[in-house]
Amino acid sequence: MSQNIAGKTVVITGASSGLGEATAYHLASLGAKVVLGARREDKLQQIVEKIEAKGGQAAYQVTDVTKASEVQALVQLAVSRFGQLDVIINNAGLMSIAPISELKTDEWDRMIDINIKGVLYGIAAALPVFEQQQHGHFINISSVAGIKVFSPGGTVYSGTKFAVRAISEGLRHEVGGAIRTTTILPGAVDSELKHGSSHQQSAEFVGNFYQIAIPADSVARAVAYAIEQPKEVDINEIVLRPAVQDF
Ligand code: NDP
Repeated sequence: MSQNIAGKTVVITGASSGLGEATAYHLASLGAKVVLGARREDKLQQIVEKIEAKGGQAAYQVTDVTKASEVQALVQLAVSRFGQLDVIINNAGLMSIAPISELKTDEWDRMIDINIKGVLYGIAAALPVFEQQQHGHFINISSVAGIKVFSPGGTVYSGTKFAVRAISEGLRHEVGGAIRTTTILPGAVDSELKHGSSHQQSAEFVGNFYQIAIPADSVARAVAYAIEQPKEVDINEIVLRPAVQDF
């Protein structure tokens, strides 16, 4: 149990695999009540069952983050089931890599809808609750591709992750005080993310790049570090990479 994590209610989007799943297990093991959203119900159900089997508390709701009403419903589930919302982790994401000249506009749309609008809908759902409670913590998942442009191929993905970083910084500045804002910017982490590219050459490049990747619970520990700080300490950004990663 962790003193400043135990008992907190934490909503996690994109919790059915990768970073979100690992963070759910880790925070639940530290005594948090986790409320999980994603589209794959079977995966969410299994994760909740595993957490409960170890004595933890968890709930899930099928959630598509591109629909504001569904993200709203996820937050409402947290409040109705556990009485409050302490943290929302806006984590759901998609990485589709391809040269701009391929004009994969459907993939651009999907990345913008999930990676940017999904984060904004999480903010819209949680902010009124945080304001009413006079406390809360946003944790938004950007990327090292939100610091440097991952080009060629990752230009639009990078654009979405730069946006997450910019939105998080503006949010921090605007809400200040009682509401904390943390941006996590990971390098290569082993997850399903690497399978999101339909452009064959880019998919091969990503496959090679991800031969060196750190486990998803590395990010879970960074998230826990941000949450467990005393309320007057706001960890604004955490960048973590595989020790040997160049990019
Ligand atoms: P995964 O592909 O393993 O996880 C992505 C998660 O997002 C899944 O749970 C997926 O669930 C969910 N998701 C996708 N689309 C939607 C949607 N429309 N609505 C709700 N949930 C959705 O990848 P990661 O765990 O790696 O990715 C998590 C975050 O971390 C992303 O924002 C990613 O950009 C970021 N990141 C990852 C890095 C890495 O190297 N892995 C590095 C830097 C950042 P489902 O399909 O069930 O909806």
